[in-house]
Amino acid sequence: MTEYKKVNSHITKALAEIVRTENVLVDDYELIPYTRDHQWVKRSDLFTSRPEVVVLPESAEQIVKIVYLANREKIPIVPCGARTGMTGNCVPIYGGIQVDMKKMNKIIEIDEDNMVAVVQAGISLYKLDQELRKRGFICGHMPGSQPTATVGGAISTNGWSERRMKYGDIRNQVTSLKVVLPTGELVKVGGGVSGKVEKSSVGFGGMKYLFIGTWGNIGNSYRSNIENLSYARTSLHSSNSIQLFRPRVQSCAENVHDGYSIFIFADRRS
Ligand SMILES: Cc1cc2nc3c(=O)[nH]c(=O)nc-3n(C[C@H](O)[C@H](O)[C@H](O)COP(=O)(O)OP(=O)(O)OC[C@H]3O[C@@H](n4cnc5c(N)ncnc54)[C@H](O)[C@@H]3O)c2cc1C
Repeated sequence: MTEYKKVNSHITKALAEIVRTENVLVDDYELIPYTRDHQWVKRSDLFTSRPEVVVLPESAEQIVKIVYLANREKIPIVPCGARTGMTGNCVPIYGGIQVDMKKMNKIIEIDEDNMVAVVQAGISLYKLDQELRKRGFICGHMPGSQPTATVGGAISTNGWSERRMKYGDIRNQVTSLKVVLPTGELVKVGGGVSGKVEKSSVGFGGMKYLFIGTWGNIGNSYRSNIENLSYARTSLHSSNSIQLFRPRVQSCAENVHDGYSIFIFADRRS
């Protein structure tokens, strides 16, 4: 197993030069929130794993420099979004550097003609959805954790939501990604030249799937193009009993063809 080095004052100084001092967290009270996500943990296991330092980059160039530094110094590095994951995957069990993506939360472009949003990975799904609604669209992925969960976290976990019936999982909605590899190289995968189209006839269009659902293990995504925005017509279905389930599914399937987008099933007796 790789022997990891510890973060020392030289490393934190170098990190501060990359992201500025206010974006480097080292005090105990600042690190404790990063010791867990929404996974249930025993009280005795609380606070056992923690990063030695947290950085909040504001650009891809900063992430590249952070990853180069970590790679050169053999320090583990773990990205996180809103830490709503329920498996503890964003918790840095070997210490090291936690890269918190929440300051990279901008919408770069909403291309209404191609129905594609270009966003930074740290934007929350809720904020994206709100901005899309102002233009008559919605986001095709809306999990239970949507008020805070980020686009980057959703892509890394290949998230699914109740809107999957129409749009599929998030892997079906990403046209391209820009990713910083563990070696510090920056790559764009998928989406043709513009990054906005689903293009698989030539080249390595399928490469993007390497980074979807792989939990940040092989890259830190910092920009995503998401398609399948839909006009914000919604339909809420609830089924009181299992007997009504089949007709409800049938009715939802018909509505899919009409352009409706949200389907919720609830069996109130279960
Ligand atoms: C109340 C509740 C309801 C939920 N409902 C759903 C649901 O309906 N559907 C669903 O799929 N999930 C659901 N979840 C689980 C969780 O919210 C999702 O997995 C969510 O997508 C995680 O996003 P996050 O920003 O919080 O990521 P985090 O928890 O911070 O990170 C999750 C993983 O992604 C990696 N990661 C984060 N950002 C990046 C990045 N930019 N680049 C590379 N890797 C990155 C992390 O290292 C980690 O491995 C729910 C959780 C809660 C608490």
